[in-house]
Amino acid sequence: MDIIIIGSGPAGISAALYAKRAGADVMVISRGNGALAKAEKIENYYGLAEPVTGAELEANGIAGAKRLGVNFIEDEVVGVAMNDDFTGLVVQTPNRTCEAKAVVLAAGSTRLAPKIPGLKELEGKGVSYCAICDAFFYRQKTVAVLGEGEYALHEVEILLPHASKVMLFTNGKEPVVEIPDTIEVHKEKIIAVEAENENGMERVCGLRAEDGALTPVNGLFIALGTAGSVDLARKIGAGTENYRVVVDGDMATNVPGLYAAGDCTGGLLQVVKAAYEGAVAGLAAAKYARRS
Ligand SMILES: Cc1cc2nc3c(=O)[nH]c(=O)nc-3n(C[C@H](O)[C@H](O)[C@H](O)COP(=O)(O)OP(=O)(O)OC[C@H]3O[C@@H](n4cnc5c(N)ncnc54)[C@H](O)[C@@H]3O)c2cc1C
Repeated sequence: MDIIIIGSGPAGISAALYAKRAGADVMVISRGNGALAKAEKIENYYGLAEPVTGAELEANGIAGAKRLGVNFIEDEVVGVAMNDDFTGLVVQTPNRTCEAKAVVLAAGSTRLAPKIPGLKELEGKGVSYCAICDAFFYRQKTVAVLGEGEYALHEVEILLPHASKVMLFTNGKEPVVEIPDTIEVHKEKIIAVEAENENGMERVCGLRAEDGALTPVNGLFIALGTAGSVDLARKIGAGTENYRVVVDGDMATNVPGLYAAGDCTGGLLQVVKAAYEGAVAGLAAAKYARRS
């Protein structure tokens, strides 16, 4: 496969159209609707004589890409990594692992961080958003993953070989995937992430539940809902800043073969900008794939 595009919103579809028409073999992996489908009415995009619903615009975009021969897979991406010999990129879902010469992150922008007292202040001091990046620091320690879906389970699985104990905290939600019996699940609401002073620095020491009980943990990994573009970028070591993926003029990240487009790169969060960036990313990714 030449190019895998993650997301079927305006950025992903635009990337698919341009890459396909540039001669690349393209596959879109998407879990379904994105931000656009939530828009009741779009009337500020070029070429619309009458307003259309966001859902209609999104469905038309997907239909157009299918007509051009773009392949679609409905699945949730939980990780992106380099392949073993660093010649391509690997996209992981709970159901499959796919490899491509280039990948375009177009999974929109969703920052799902709960407003739990202590969480924000302890980011980088025991609160992490990336198991693959930080698992190593929790060897033989007790950690918790906060989340309820495939993404959280994926993070648990990454931590298991490193930590002495990994628990899943759903913060009052029911898990939406089957959790193996071997994993301790806590469904109670968390009211605070607590810290203690360790060598002159505050670090996570436990999670306080609504009933007052404190579960001691050394680390807390946030994996709510599904992984967004920024979460995926972090996993492979691509630059991020203020919850956006850092790209150059070709929409390339600092990881060879990895591009990003749309809401996930920040700036104007509008269809027109997502479509433009998708086009640039699709063309650049096709050029990269041709050279690889
Ligand atoms: C209520 C509302 C109203 C709006 N009104 C307007 C408007 O009037 N005009 C305008 O120009 N813009 C409007 N916008 C903004 C516009 O919708 C976004 O700027 C645009 O959709 C961004 O496109 P995108 O492709 O970057 O992301 P999205 O449209 O969010 O698409 C993201 C895609 O990634 C997929 N995805 C996410 N995570 C994963 C994963 N882990 N694995 C696989 N797939 C994944 C999603 O399913 C989706 O297909 C509005 C947005 C909202 C929410």
